[in-house]
Amino acid sequence: MLLTPGPTPVPEFVRKAMADVTIHHRTPEFEQIFKETRELLLEVFDMSEVVMLASSGTGAMEACITNLTHKKALTINSGKFGERFGKICEAFGIESTEIKNEWNTPVSVEAVVEAIKSDSDIDAIFIQICESAGGLRHPVEQIAAEVKKINPNIMIVADGITAIGVEKVDTTNLDAVITGSQKALMLPPGLSMIGLSNAAVEKINKKTAGYYFNLATEIKKQKTNTTAWTAATTLIIGLREILLHIKNNGGFEVLYEKTALRASSTREALKAICCEIYPSSPADAMTTIYTENAPAIRKILKTKYNANIAGGQDHIKSLIFRINHMGLVEDFEASWVVNAIELAMDELGLRVFDGTANRVFASNMFKGN
Ligand SMILES: *Cc1c(COP(=O)(O)O)cnc(C)c1O
Repeated sequence: MLLTPGPTPVPEFVRKAMADVTIHHRTPEFEQIFKETRELLLEVFDMSEVVMLASSGTGAMEACITNLTHKKALTINSGKFGERFGKICEAFGIESTEIKNEWNTPVSVEAVVEAIKSDSDIDAIFIQICESAGGLRHPVEQIAAEVKKINPNIMIVADGITAIGVEKVDTTNLDAVITGSQKALMLPPGLSMIGLSNAAVEKINKKTAGYYFNLATEIKKQKTNTTAWTAATTLIIGLREILLHIKNNGGFEVLYEKTALRASSTREALKAICCEIYPSSPADAMTTIYTENAPAIRKILKTKYNANIAGGQDHIKSLIFRINHMGLVEDFEASWVVNAIELAMDELGLRVFDGTANRVFASNMFKGN
């Protein structure tokens, strides 16, 4: 049972769709698939433009930094992935400033407003929607709305790798939203996608940047249902399959509702057995628990209960564990995991097993309380 917050399991129907013969990317046949995938993505992002890149999510992060920062970037660092935006700026010699918080603490709207008011060079803000390092949700929509009131020319770039496909993101004030194939979209790694606003497209075209990740070139090509370089055909075929599946099975709203309920039921179940939720504003993509016993609990889950959950990174490497909620996770998988955690805690002498986690999970998930 793979319940790590990325990579997530690839459903069988997707694997089958990707197992067919390879088709050439410059053919009417592939262009039709590309077109359909593009249209589905535009719906998912609810934005006016979209590009697909043959790269992992970090490639799309890099493309947004280099194509959308003309002067100075403000990066939000509440974890590994926010930190990465700053490192990309550094690697390219792009001027940047950072707001740094502990990994359980989201940035405040006030701190961002203060930063842009005190530095008029900032022309792009880079932030995670869900920062997967600690599983926290940043108030991205509120930040975007406030920033646009002050200066509508500042680009808001949101890394939605663990948010798109998890929850409905209000993209009204967002200029670029990044996602990747191997998390909520349940595909193998290797494809990234960026939803773009009209303002972002204008800015990209005003001063083009880069070569492989030149978004001006990509947008121009992808509007005509082809790509600048060889497309990741197999992954795009898989993407079309998964998006159609979601659309034909109640649509994204149903998936978002189910994910939110499974996430809140998991949190309640674990709180009921005295687990500490790590982030002060938990995202629905994953549940992160803070405990010194994280490595021991993970080990028991893996060896005894066939459940693979993730630990942490860096300074909280052995202080947290993370349970994935992204993708088509079965309710019984989530209920099994909270049950297994209670059993593991019993084995470690942390509490006496009495089935509380499973009872609370089930009553939240299925009985509405
Ligand atoms: C996984 C992840 C990334 C990095 O993506 P790669 O595909 O590993 O390059 C970036 N941001 C967030 C929030 C992620 O969870």
